[in-house]
Amino acid sequence: MSSIVAIVGRPNVGKSTLFNRLIQRREAIVDAVSGVTRDRHYGRTDWNGKEFSVIDTGGYVKGSDDVFEAEIDKQVELAIDEADAIIFMVEVESGVTGMDEEVANLLRKVDKPVFLVINKVDNNDRLAQAVEFYSLGLGEYYPISSINGSGTGDLLDDVVKAL
Ligand code: GDP
Ligand code: MG
Repeated sequence: MSSIVAIVGRPNVGKSTLFNRLIQRREAIVDAVSGVTRDRHYGRTDWNGKEFSVIDTGGYVKGSDDVFEAEIDKQVELAIDEADAIIFMVEVESGVTGMDEEVANLLRKVDKPVFLVINKVDNNDRLAQAVEFYSLGLGEYYPISSINGSGTGDLLDDVVKAL
């Protein structure tokens, strides 16, 4: 069984954009994974010669920004149970939100590798804004741009080391 990496976070931070980047040219959905539900997408990828599965969480109802906090909490709990490592994604445009803090509270208690990823750091100006995410109490973070790919290599280097 290959390792599982789950991507969690509130809506619109860019989870699916990263997921799609990771599974590019690879098989998209693995329906055979037990316990698969429609609000989770599974894919396979590899980095530095290591294969792993990725779970994109968060609901696929078109145009639904309006996800209940309880639903996000459920996704995080599932990820905690199921994954070997967790990518917790936030984004720099909006800064720290209450929902980010809630997810951080759940993840701080977890005994698995958690990678705090700050998305939408598309340029150097945004790098400076990212420091506010230290307030989440999860330590060091990975600034990335899921759209242009910057920072994703360093993130994946560390993720596969943890698997
Ligand atoms: P999800 O709800 O967390 O899965 O977020 P999506 O992947 O659907 O992305 C939400 C929005 O953010 C979309 O309009 C994306 O194009 C945009 N987005 C995702 N990644 C980036 C990024 O790195 N930079 C910028 N500027 N926008 C991004
Ligand atoms: Mg999504």
